[in-house]
Amino acid sequence: MNIMKDINDLTGKVAVITGGGGVLCKAFGKTLARYGAKVALLDLNAEAAESGAQEIIAEGGEAIGVAVNVLQGDSLKLAHQKVLEALGPCDILINGAGGNHPKGTTTKEYLLKEHLEDDSLTTFFDLDPDGIQFVFNLNFLGTFLPTREFAKDMVDRERGTIINISSMNAFRPLTKIPAYSGAKSSVSNFTQWLAVHFSRVGIRVNALAPGFFLTEQNRRLLTQEDGSLTARGNTIIAHTPLQRFGTPEDLDGTLLWLCGSGSAFVTGVVIPVDGGFSAFSGV
Ligand code: NAD
Repeated sequence: MNIMKDINDLTGKVAVITGGGGVLCKAFGKTLARYGAKVALLDLNAEAAESGAQEIIAEGGEAIGVAVNVLQGDSLKLAHQKVLEALGPCDILINGAGGNHPKGTTTKEYLLKEHLEDDSLTTFFDLDPDGIQFVFNLNFLGTFLPTREFAKDMVDRERGTIINISSMNAFRPLTKIPAYSGAKSSVSNFTQWLAVHFSRVGIRVNALAPGFFLTEQNRRLLTQEDGSLTARGNTIIAHTPLQRFGTPEDLDGTLLWLCGSGSAFVTGVVIPVDGGFSAFSGV
């Protein structure tokens, strides 16, 4: 008997992935489909969700792309109906929609008094509450609302698994991005809360905390047009003991383990997949 294959086998399971048109979550969808799951990629960008689903189908998997706004209850309800009709009730929910906003970001790492005279800079005092609100909504409410919608399927059958997407900045905030750091911290906290709350109805709740992966959101922050690293990109690599950015495939093993029966006694954890970034003090 191939024990590892049994542990990772997701045949017949329905996986709903928000942010499924994005870089990491589309890759999650492909991986879960390769292990037998029926995959619904949900995204604000309907085209990206649909083309991701087509890529999975082209590889022999079963998938649908569904337009959704994770911040709107009605939109989630409609998406849920489409998933039920096409694939069935949700067994695995990955809350992947998330991200930062420039309006919640300072220009400089540290405030110097002279920055207050420079209108070209966004200092702490220029941060826009609407930008901060956007980031908290997208990451926290964008995890809470899809869970409220799809976890009902799991409660009905007293089984299921939820995987939230946290971040390095939830452990220690990264410079410049106070809103994103605080919002991902709230995702980690909610993961623990929900794991306890759902423990009596057979639902496990865990989170992945990816390190630094080059995606559309951060490519301009981390690399120059010629592909070389920015100062921030260099700092990250210098603080990553494994000395590289992650690739989506680096998340596969942990993702499959959290989705499958091998992690049956694991709930309420936030797992760094970060090349050692969170372990390294920098000295
Ligand atoms: P991405 O931008 O490629 O994907 C995010 C997707 O979410 C996009 O397709 C976007 O259209 C979708 N989305 C945005 N708002 C939405 C809404 N209101 N409703 C539905 N969908 C919406 O980003 P990614 O890097 O693949 O990130 C995926 C997740 O991983 C995010 O939660 C991100 O915060 C997290 N993360 C990324 C990294 C990294 O290094 N890339 C590190 C840690 C955590």
